Amino acid sequence: MKTLPRTDVVIIGGGWTGLLMAKELGARTHLSVVVLERGAPREAHGYLTDMDELDYAIRLRMMQDPSLETVTLRHHSKQRALPIRQFASFLPGTGTGGAGEHWQGWCPRFSPDSFELRTRTLEKYGAQRVPEGYDLHDWGVTYDELEPYYTRAENLIGVSGKAGNLKGKISPGGDPFEGPRSAEYPTPPMKMPHLAEMFRAAAQSLGLHPYPLPAATISTAYTNPDGVHRLGCAYCGFCERFGCMIGSKAQPTNTLLPVIARQKNVSVRSRSSVRRILHDRSGKQPHARGVVYVDDAGQEVFQPADLVVLSSWTLNNTRLLLLSEIGQPYDPVTGRGTLGRSLTHQVSFNAAVAFFDKPLNRFMGAGASGILLSDFDADNFDHEKLAFLRGGKFEVVASGARPIASFGAVPGSVKARWGSEWKKAALRYYDQNGAIFFSGEHLANRSNFMDLDPTYKDHLGDPLLRFTLNWYDNERRMAEFSGPKGLEMARAMGATDTLPFGGLQNYDATRYQSTHIQGGTMMGASPEESVLNPWLQHWDVPNLFVLGASSFPQNPSGNPTLTILAQTYRTADAIVERYLKKPGPLAG
Ligand SMILES: Cc1cc2nc3c(=O)[nH]c(=O)nc-3n(C[C@H](O)[C@H](O)[C@H](O)COP(=O)(O)OP(=O)(O)OC[C@H]3O[C@@H](n4cnc5c(N)ncnc54)[C@H](O)[C@@H]3O)c2cc1C
Repeated sequence: MKTLPRTDVVIIGGGWTGLLMAKELGARTHLSVVVLERGAPREAHGYLTDMDELDYAIRLRMMQDPSLETVTLRHHSKQRALPIRQFASFLPGTGTGGAGEHWQGWCPRFSPDSFELRTRTLEKYGAQRVPEGYDLHDWGVTYDELEPYYTRAENLIGVSGKAGNLKGKISPGGDPFEGPRSAEYPTPPMKMPHLAEMFRAAAQSLGLHPYPLPAATISTAYTNPDGVHRLGCAYCGFCERFGCMIGSKAQPTNTLLPVIARQKNVSVRSRSSVRRILHDRSGKQPHARGVVYVDDAGQEVFQPADLVVLSSWTLNNTRLLLLSEIGQPYDPVTGRGTLGRSLTHQVSFNAAVAFFDKPLNRFMGAGASGILLSDFDADNFDHEKLAFLRGGKFEVVASGARPIASFGAVPGSVKARWGSEWKKAALRYYDQNGAIFFSGEHLANRSNFMDLDPTYKDHLGDPLLRFTLNWYDNERRMAEFSGPKGLEMARAMGATDTLPFGGLQNYDATRYQSTHIQGGTMMGASPEESVLNPWLQHWDVPNLFVLGASSFPQNPSGNPTLTILAQTYRTADAIVERYLKKPGPLAG
């Protein structure tokens, strides 16, 4: 194995989190920083031509190739897991920028009580209301502590939106349930497509509180605090699963790379796939020595480093710690061990599809141009008489109605599922339907976890990550509550026909839910309960920091990336202002 000269910092993964950490360390220190990214290099100007729905959105041109590395799935511990041969329910990214290149750009903050879920729930409802089999956790960080970092993340991206709670003052048109914000959004809300306006009017007529979706597909030209300039959105609809042609959607390549390119102390090595984090257990405190990766030529390389930052998204963050034997794997039988625990996804589905007798021009849109409401999210409504905890957001977005994926919705009254009757109805309703989407919170269940698969291996011969994952009572009851609410909203929009939600069955790997997978390397206030401390530093290995949604103790309904970026800023501050001055565990 080839050994390279030592670097101060090695960062594993060149997506949103890895590149943001690289940019911050590059700007604020003289440390040498190497980012290792397993996929191909990309640049912001790489998306100017050839947008093709079949290639990008259906054949998943930008995503991880499952024939090289995938995950195995089973619903419960007594089953044998099988490999997912085609990604569908979530879409792991690869290549410079990671999934941040082809994300959709929804940028909500999490509700303040999400960060203190256990404490607040027990205070209000008592331990007896926690459904059987579930674990509730606090994060070890509060909304108020994270708020300044949320603002920095919004300014980085230029998020378009309308504040609902500015410094404690509720302001009309925004989300009245949000935590207090120290500043208005950096750019105004996006233009609203007709369908979203219909939803806003309907929700208001029902006494609810709709507000514009906070968007990374920005409404107007914007220059961020790093001096990076981006254009306003052209509403072409090629956002989710695509890189943005004009750079309006914030992506690591158009927001972070322009800064990194000027930093002499940071380098990004693509086609460098990390297999292990090496660590020394001989001293008083285990210590990461660096990483072993496979380079473009297939050769194994040891990159020694003083500080290791793991930012390879939920799946590989967990898998690399398991493969490297850092931390104690979770055992669902005894409940011991923390690594791999608290795997969550997001309870996402169309609560109802509404059909209308007029065209909606849905082909004009953007990934994040739409209306949300949080009236049934978090603990914003009374759960006293309900059989579940927490909730989710209802959303109507006109994201471009691309012809392949958007074709085929027909009302429940059309019985045919194929043939000429179905085709006629599908053609008629192509531009006359809209989904009322629900994104619900997924609480950590003791039966849902990740470990290494005993049978299946990747192309390098390393065990695949195994998911043991299913829906349980809290998710099913939440879905039973949300479906009828969606229908009520559809009717208030003037729908002439509807397609109701069919109910939550077993976890289905073939239907896209979202690429919001959390857990595995959870953060928390004590090493008995969590893998990381509140600064995202590994409890056992202080020169190892782990970024991203793998640190989330549970899924809090909203899309994760803004919170991930806010936490990365907070960790960068902790490294620069505290760790580098006195390397070792960060206390307090
Ligand atoms: C289709 C889609 C739509 C989405 N929409 C939204 C949205 O609207 N709002 C939202 O908040 N979030 C959204 N997301 C999720 C969002 O993209 C992620 O939350 C975000 O990208 C996570 O950043 P990250 O740095 O943790 O991981 P990533 O961006 O995935 O980056 C991780 C990087 O690590 C690399 N890597 C992995 N393993 C290794 C290894 N062994 N060695 C070296 N490199 C490695 C990967 O190749 C990848 O480039 C969406 C995702 C997808 C796929």
